[in-house]
Amino acid sequence: MQDVPLSLTHVFERAERLWPHKEIVTATVGGGRERTTYGAWAERTRRLAGVFDDLGISSDGRVGTFAWNSARHLELYFAAPCSGRVLHTLNIRLFPEQLTYVANHAEDEVVFVDRSLMPLFWPRIDELTTVKYVVVMDDGADAEIPDDPRIRDYEELLAAASPVADLAIEDENQAAAMCYTSGTTGNPKGVVYSHRSMVLHAMATMLADTFGLCERDVVLPVVPQFHANAWGLAHAVAMTGATIIMPGPDLSPKAIATLIEEEHVTLAAGVPTIWMGMLPELDGRDVSSLRQILCGGSAVPRALSEAYREKTGKPILQAWGMTETSPLGSIANVTSALEDGSEDELAALRASVGQISPLVDARHVEAGTTEPLPWDGEAQGELQVRGAWIAAGYYDDERPCNTPDGWLMTGDVVTIDEHGYIRIVDRTKDVIKSGGEWISSVELENEIMAHPDVAEAAVIGLADQKWGERPVACVVAADGKELTAEDVRTFLDGRVAKFWIPERVELIDEVPKTSVGKFSKKDLRERFAAAEA
Ligand code: ADP
Repeated sequence: MQDVPLSLTHVFERAERLWPHKEIVTATVGGGRERTTYGAWAERTRRLAGVFDDLGISSDGRVGTFAWNSARHLELYFAAPCSGRVLHTLNIRLFPEQLTYVANHAEDEVVFVDRSLMPLFWPRIDELTTVKYVVVMDDGADAEIPDDPRIRDYEELLAAASPVADLAIEDENQAAAMCYTSGTTGNPKGVVYSHRSMVLHAMATMLADTFGLCERDVVLPVVPQFHANAWGLAHAVAMTGATIIMPGPDLSPKAIATLIEEEHVTLAAGVPTIWMGMLPELDGRDVSSLRQILCGGSAVPRALSEAYREKTGKPILQAWGMTETSPLGSIANVTSALEDGSEDELAALRASVGQISPLVDARHVEAGTTEPLPWDGEAQGELQVRGAWIAAGYYDDERPCNTPDGWLMTGDVVTIDEHGYIRIVDRTKDVIKSGGEWISSVELENEIMAHPDVAEAAVIGLADQKWGERPVACVVAADGKELTAEDVRTFLDGRVAKFWIPERVELIDEVPKTSVGKFSKKDLRERFAAAEA
């Protein structure tokens, strides 16, 4: 067989040749929509590669982005790697100190910033020791553009640049992009993706038994382009020629629902908080175009998935992954052998994170051992994975990533059943040990969120003199609903083991979220442990 490098230049050229007529739509700051085609995008992407040369960016230099999802961001997604540079998507919601850390650690030479985000970005500029240029992408916001020699305008640069005709990557293992984990403890850790890993990962999202992404799809990645490569969707659309709808800065439920309805979106992807927020917005809307509602990044409550099934006829399709896994790891499609199960059994399957993706292996082990536990749905252990798009280590960082025998340590405690369905019991650091017994915070949250008057619930473990640790439930009542701690406890009675029922139920206005929209248990622990002290 021929030995052809798997590279994003192939994906780019395929899109350029086959889909010049297909659309890329971006929702803009003013509430409008900018429409372009893959044809125009490809031409601009080649020019953008020329811009990097004009700016003197090193041949393998890191190109930072600080941006919403947009057609321009998609130009950067290909121009950087296809010209040999490394795309580094900065998370716009990182704490300022972490932003400084990651930009310096990656040695970003240039950062492309949406104009609407300049007020957030620019105050850090003097701490970013390697950044020579800040290229402003005017998204129609009226944010001030500083008068500074480092500032450049995206469209002016593009207009002045020559398109690069020859985009070629010879070594498929060359770095294409990097992302940092959101770093709930310590500094964020960098993961570097290769051309090969990104191509294989994009292909995996197109398999019928994963996301099944295809040419006919209209894809809406609500998941930001800075969150684990927008889950591979931004590469897969170019490979398949699917229409892509970029949501821009307005991620409100109303804006997302309107995009789905008006653009006839078939596949939309986001973290659970996005879909929770959208639920009340669905009433009276026609979202029948939706074929796949993808959700992952944190546990998808069963009640949420079932609510979508009732309202749209389509359950949420749950996936599991990490920055370290590109991110597709597992996906909860129902297999033919199991599809005749009761509604209850099917709902339980959809509440799992499903089966491991093709080209990825999974095992679960007791901490510190390498002996796989049985796939019996009972044994609990740390999920470990390995495969062609799984990180082998962190970028310029000694912190542990793989076991000595070459498996990624995920920090997730799971069970795996005889059909290979993986259930996340907890993250290692969130699991609660009470009186010598384990309590799964994820499962307890699931049960609490099944209460019709509960909007959100996060469970944390706090130190307890008698039991070691006890669960504390932090609960947000649904809009306009009255809820007491006793209501929650009564509801749990009979649904979970007695010792799981939290003595302490805190009714709060909102669960604090991390930079990628997950429940921030760290913040809750600090808040309620402090309240106790
Ligand atoms: P961070 O670790 O900084 O939050 P990641 O986005 O890489 O950033 O998070 C990966 C983690 O998210 C996984 O290890 C797992 O704990 C959690 N996660 C992802 N998908 C799911 C899911 N479907 N159900 C439960 N947890 C999930």
